[in-house]
Amino acid sequence: MDFAYDAKTEELRGKLLAFMDSHVHPAEAVLERQLHDAADPWQRQPVLDELKAEARRQGLWNLFLPDAEHGGGLTNLQYAPLAEITGRSPHLAPEALNCAAPDTGNMEVLAMFGTDEQKKQWLQPLLDGEIRSAFCMTEPDVASSDATNIATRIERDGDDYVINGRKWWSSGAMNPNCAIFIVMGKTDPGADRHRQQSQILVPRDTPGVTIEREMRVFGYGDHAHGGHAEIVFDDVRVPATNLIAGEGEGFAIAQARLGPGRIHHCMRLIGMAERALELMCRRAVSRVAFGKPIATQGVVQEWIAEARVRIEQARLLVLKTAWLMDTVGNKGAHTEIQAIKIGTPLMTEWVLDKAIQAHGAGGVSQDTPLAELWVAARTLRLADGPDEVHRMSLAKRELKKYL
Ligand SMILES: Cc1cc2nc3c(=O)[nH]c(=O)nc-3n(C[C@H](O)[C@H](O)[C@H](O)COP(=O)(O)OP(=O)(O)OC[C@H]3O[C@@H](n4cnc5c(N)ncnc54)[C@H](O)[C@@H]3O)c2cc1C
Repeated sequence: MDFAYDAKTEELRGKLLAFMDSHVHPAEAVLERQLHDAADPWQRQPVLDELKAEARRQGLWNLFLPDAEHGGGLTNLQYAPLAEITGRSPHLAPEALNCAAPDTGNMEVLAMFGTDEQKKQWLQPLLDGEIRSAFCMTEPDVASSDATNIATRIERDGDDYVINGRKWWSSGAMNPNCAIFIVMGKTDPGADRHRQQSQILVPRDTPGVTIEREMRVFGYGDHAHGGHAEIVFDDVRVPATNLIAGEGEGFAIAQARLGPGRIHHCMRLIGMAERALELMCRRAVSRVAFGKPIATQGVVQEWIAEARVRIEQARLLVLKTAWLMDTVGNKGAHTEIQAIKIGTPLMTEWVLDKAIQAHGAGGVSQDTPLAELWVAARTLRLADGPDEVHRMSLAKRELKKYL
């Protein structure tokens, strides 16, 4: 394993770091003002359009997609340090570079499994950053961490499929620019439990699709993802050609989609933790309590040292996972993908908690990015599957060696 960044990665890192300093970080306050004044807070704000145009001009575009025809042509190991940098401003930078979830996963699915027609109609405008997309799997009425429970029906009727069901937490779907949903549902409830599900493309404006409400994270909106929606599908009719891959392939597509998605989240989480540590250190050396900077307190030094150790450990495991995905494939890296999905959000949540504490009440306020970053890290212990399910699956693999 050689984790030294190669020349291409170094070049892109240099460009991206400069872009973060000159464009992204200054835009953070602008975005907050624009959201505050916006008539429709789910609409993409003008500052994002400007960032996207600039990122594209600089060649910092679609870097997440390993396929050189459509994306940056980077390996996971090359993309990892770049995604980490975008994690320092997770509500702006990934979208500015057209590297934001859930679009990234949806683009990967279309690139891997889409027909030429599906690619032309939906992949191309997503790659161009013209539209956004949502992935609709989770349902309020069933335990969705077990994907075989998904109950929405996708039924064949002549040349169409008819969809009935209720989804929630479909990230991005509140955004009026979110034009296409990938919906998971059952085409054959009688089949083997991993062959019952399929995935189908449903344009947002199809009759029978109702966006019922926004889901609020900890009671607040989440503009970063364009808003998480609860959506009802009531006799929604789409052409049979909208099915992705084939009937019964839904579970396999979901698995293929989640490997890269999880590692991208973990890379960005490391960037969040780095930003939190930086803010904690700056605060610790400048804030004086009981006659001396709080940085001189042993307890604060312990947080700082421990944060550095935890970040380095997580980064190394994420880089190892990226390297394995590149060398033995996503299946071969399964255990490591699960390990980073379990460990990285917890690590970042811990570092953020200490950084917040070092900031006193200011740490939970809107005056630093810490509170928003903490929310992002905490929700990633649920999104893409809760910790416990990953632990269960990792433990089963580990135990298999002894059975
Ligand atoms: C911010 C955010 C964004 C999201 N974005 C999307 C999206 O874009 N599209 C989408 O489809 N979904 C999305 N989700 C939903 C997310 O993927 C689900 O919430 C998650 O998979 C868990 O499903 P559930 O909520 O139904 O929990 P349940 O399945 O009801 O599980 C509840 C709890 O039970 C426990 N549990 C479950 N199984 C086990 C087990 N085997 N062992 C021990 N404990 C267990 C866990 O503690 C778990 O948290 C998002 C969620 C959040 C918070």
